[in-house]
Amino acid sequence: MNNNEFDVIIVGSGMSGGYAAKEFCEKGYNTLVLDRGEMVRHGQYKTEGKAPWQMPFRGDVPEEFKAEQHIQKEVYIYNDYTRHHLINDKDHPYEQKKPFIWYRSATVGGKSLIWGRQSYRWSKLDFQSNKLDGNGIDWPVRYEDIAPWYDRVEPFVGISGSYEGLDVLPDGKFLPALPLNVVERDMKKKIEQTFPDRHFIPARVAHLTQPQKQHLELGRVQCQARSECPRGCSFGAYYSSNSAALPAAERTGNLTLVADGQVQEVLYDKASGRATGVAYVDMRSGERKQVFARTVFMCASTLASVQILLNSKSETFPEGIGNRFDVLGRYIMDHCGGGGASGMVPGYLEDYYKGRRPGGVYIPRFRNIGKKHGKFERGYGFQCGASRAGWHWAKSGKGIGKAFKEKVSQPGNWYFTMWGFGESLPRYENRVYLHPTKKDKWGMPLLVTDVTYGENESAMVKDMSETAAEMLQAAGLKNIRPFEGEAPPGGAIHEMGGACMGLEVETSYLNKWNQCHDVKNLFVTDGAAFASVSCVNPSITFMAFTARAVDYADQQMKRGLI
Ligand SMILES: Cc1cc2nc3c(=O)[nH]c(=O)nc-3n(C[C@H](O)[C@H](O)[C@H](O)COP(=O)(O)OP(=O)(O)OC[C@H]3O[C@@H](n4cnc5c(N)ncnc54)[C@H](O)[C@@H]3O)c2cc1C
Ligand code: SF4
Repeated sequence: MNNNEFDVIIVGSGMSGGYAAKEFCEKGYNTLVLDRGEMVRHGQYKTEGKAPWQMPFRGDVPEEFKAEQHIQKEVYIYNDYTRHHLINDKDHPYEQKKPFIWYRSATVGGKSLIWGRQSYRWSKLDFQSNKLDGNGIDWPVRYEDIAPWYDRVEPFVGISGSYEGLDVLPDGKFLPALPLNVVERDMKKKIEQTFPDRHFIPARVAHLTQPQKQHLELGRVQCQARSECPRGCSFGAYYSSNSAALPAAERTGNLTLVADGQVQEVLYDKASGRATGVAYVDMRSGERKQVFARTVFMCASTLASVQILLNSKSETFPEGIGNRFDVLGRYIMDHCGGGGASGMVPGYLEDYYKGRRPGGVYIPRFRNIGKKHGKFERGYGFQCGASRAGWHWAKSGKGIGKAFKEKVSQPGNWYFTMWGFGESLPRYENRVYLHPTKKDKWGMPLLVTDVTYGENESAMVKDMSETAAEMLQAAGLKNIRPFEGEAPPGGAIHEMGGACMGLEVETSYLNKWNQCHDVKNLFVTDGAAFASVSCVNPSITFMAFTARAVDYADQQMKRGLI
């Protein structure tokens, strides 16, 4: 075998690609992972553990750096400890025909290094909604098809959670949950008594609360509740590709990992009707290269995978590989959000919490479950949490001397905030496409986003803010402030669609195995494959589909079919 020939090429090493690499390498395949990001090896996290006084700007980011990251600077984790994990927007432009916030990672490991770790299974209803209300195209799979793959992925990832027995949020294979704090325990009682259809449960997060043998073997240990996760964590206590999947792949001896490699095109051979490999640019030297494999997995993240596929043009597929029916780039979705409420919790001034718990509370979807709500289709859940105000006010507050220091060291009142994440509808007209002339500095055509929300999303966000306020009211909070700041698509960082799975080649890009209808050795297993978005955070579901697709590809390769 030449050194540019592999069994499998995986584009992207984030949540989906990292897991694909682990599975293929463990099955014995000679696997190449190509990633556009800089190499970040587990344990080499340059701002981990640093205090503000060890940072040149005390953790804040000077305006000149922000100018280079004018999109990324809006993400809630953006600061001087994390900005090197996010892309330079000047070097990686895109065009927004309509506003779309595209948050992207700058490193190997992708957004798995900086994600919020919230991990929920999709429900039976989530895979049926398109069919039931007629929006989008029907999924070719149901919950029962994917459940065994959640069972496989979750123990490896390590997810802390409580067993609740809810149809709307199926239980998984959990480590012990991070406990609710004293305020949350009392709020749970009041809210569940007043609203029997609403459940107030510990957030399910990818943190090791009780590491198992397979975690310890990879050097991953128990979470220390420092809540500095997006800087990277040498304890390996939250799941990332860098801490878990890539080391698991590497120890097999079957992994080749190339950083700084921007994949631009999937290569296609007309005679065999197969993808033969990919073309990429070494972003440091500018050199253009080609690599070859029996099977190609696209895991570059939703929009980036679609961009590469659209740019993979040939005589057979002038509009992008496998794109005979103008389906590629269609049905782009994200969660709609921006609705919620916050309030002050009276009392509990003798109570505090220990550590900085890296999770909070989740309130699963309760709208349009059985009974129709009437004002919108589908539903939303809330991510929430109670904490005491700390010393941060003092950064801009005035004061000096002993009395000021004492004041700063006292915690303030308790507050509780609820943020809604809603299921937006799949719409054919919401799309991305390639700019006809503009390219980035490595020669990749720019992506154009043409995605917008509709009345359904606006009505849902309004309802989020009303129901959040009424729950806080029922729990006895004061100074309740509902908010309704609907962010543009992309703002929830849960973008999906563009190369959807479906039943028919005329209306979808992939079949039920994440396999391109027209190019059988080409798979897409990141969020691009999704035909709807549910209302829960999606990444664990990307991984479950990836695991299932690898298993299928393995069988097909063994039988000589691909
Ligand atoms: C701040 C934040 C919080 C989040 N919180 C949560 C959460 O709590 N729960 C949840 O489920 N999800 C969360 N997400 C979303 C989650 O991170 C993504 O859904 C997930 O990482 C997507 O996985 P992926 O494999 O598709 O893409 P990524 O993880 O982004 O990986 C894609 C990889 O492909 C590489 N790549 C891109 N283009 C190319 C190219 N042309 N050539 C080569 N390589 C390329 C990138 O460098 C990257 O490494 C959050 C995201 C952010 C930013
Ligand atoms: S909270 Fe846990 S996972 Fe996050 S940085 Fe701290 S130890 Fe690591």
